[in-house]
Amino acid sequence: MTIAVENPATGQVIGTVPDLTADDVAAAARRARAAQPAWQALGYDGRAAVLRRMQRWIVDHTDEVVATICAETGKAYEDALLAEVNYGAAAFGFWAKEAPRYLADTKVRSSQPLVAGKRLVQRYCPLGLVGVIGPWNYPLTNSFGDCIPALAAGNAVLLKPSEVTPLTSLLLAEGLAASGLPDGVFGVVTGRGETGAALVDEVDMVMFTGSTATGRRVAARAAERLIPASLELGGKDPMIVLADADLERAATHAAYYAMFNCGQTCISIERCYVEESVYPAFVELVTAKVKALRQGVPAGPGSVDVGSLTFPPQVDVVDRHVSEALAAGARALTGGARPERAGHWYPPTVLVDVDHSMAIMREETFGPTLPIMAVRDADEAVRLANDSEYGLCASVFGRDLARAEDVARRLEAGAVTVNDAVVNYTALELPMGGAKPASGIGRRHGKDGITKYCRQQSLLVSRVHLRRDVHTYPYRSGRTRAIRSLLGLLNRGRPGRS
Ligand code: NDP
Repeated sequence: MTIAVENPATGQVIGTVPDLTADDVAAAARRARAAQPAWQALGYDGRAAVLRRMQRWIVDHTDEVVATICAETGKAYEDALLAEVNYGAAAFGFWAKEAPRYLADTKVRSSQPLVAGKRLVQRYCPLGLVGVIGPWNYPLTNSFGDCIPALAAGNAVLLKPSEVTPLTSLLLAEGLAASGLPDGVFGVVTGRGETGAALVDEVDMVMFTGSTATGRRVAARAAERLIPASLELGGKDPMIVLADADLERAATHAAYYAMFNCGQTCISIERCYVEESVYPAFVELVTAKVKALRQGVPAGPGSVDVGSLTFPPQVDVVDRHVSEALAAGARALTGGARPERAGHWYPPTVLVDVDHSMAIMREETFGPTLPIMAVRDADEAVRLANDSEYGLCASVFGRDLARAEDVARRLEAGAVTVNDAVVNYTALELPMGGAKPASGIGRRHGKDGITKYCRQQSLLVSRVHLRRDVHTYPYRSGRTRAIRSLLGLLNRGRPGRS
């Protein structure tokens, strides 16, 4: 059985991939498990050499990687170059360099008398076989990208890309082989949801990115198997524009980070709240910028600003959110109607007169839409921004940095940017992930972004000791009374100290 892969911007079939069964996945898992110990044994330096060669391979094959991503996602050339190829190359260099530091043995101190003089160490070891299940919006960054720290930690990895965008992962697997990754350490298991479910049944840990509904199913299966799951799920990221904001910058960012990648970014700006004194000027600026965007089939650098949607059913979701909002009294200042053309398209759309009874303000739209609402003040903006089951990222714009940061700290989001948006994702040192369950659990990037692919081991080494410790058998009343007095003294604490 095979799956046809379509270019969503043109509707043309551009390739086919195998639709792997549970037996195929089990066989791939056996191969990966057999290859993993030698990969682990290479150590950080040996693995880093492969990862750095892959970093160069990506740079040397930029044209081919960008072309593959654009062909299977329909996204603009720049969206593939900046947010995917650039991310992938940087991530290989980053994890090659940082894995040994993040996973280094840590000496632990303890005030407990029974371990006095002993060496205590917290250490990390690879889990073995990691399964990564990825979505279609960023086949390199969000899907393949999560494999990089897992490999750096010494795991074998099997990646299940979205059935809609498997070609990028297969191309990158060729790159890893050309970079000297030992056979079997990395595999791509192409297929549909059932293939993803079969993968969860084989691995020691699962990293999932995608919808909240599927994330819940993956987490439930992982819980049955008692394996860890890290989930990066949906977002409905709010942007707040305070009255003193640099409106030109705020409007540029609103237009860019709402429409970038055709709005199919889990941390894109999905809704906007503006203090009422600057609302008319902000709306006018944003609308002009969005109206000026050129949408079309990408044909190289600078050819279009916005490409097509990637996932065919997503056009229905976007259309429903916009149509329902319009029927309930919203106005579209640009866009707002689905075009008749081959491929999967929706125009960049700015909506006003929206409120929280509308799906477009509450559900993940994942399309090129920007609904904007006027608010009385920052308190109302914070209340509305937090009125969501999601909490992935958020942004606040204002010239008074102390005030803007105070607003940022009141937002229930895993990451908040001030006078910026989305670029926090490129700081691989900075963890990102959901603050509310619907946006996921676990972190990507930073130390947590690699320790999650490891099991921990706590080591205690007793170097200098008596032949028999005083608390061991046989119990004797005199010694017990002495121990009790000593413990009483130790546990009483010092007066006045908390
Ligand atoms: P899904 O969550 O359904 O798919 C994500 C990945 O999980 C895909 O590889 C999918 O395979 C796989 N999968 C599906 N079912 C299972 C299962 N039971 N067990 C294991 N893996 C499974 O996302 P969709 O692609 O359907 O997108 C739907 C919605 O998700 C969008 O409308 C958007 O709102 C949101 N989304 C959020 C993303 C984010 O970055 N947070 C990214 C993409 C989507 P297959 O594709 O082959 O079905």
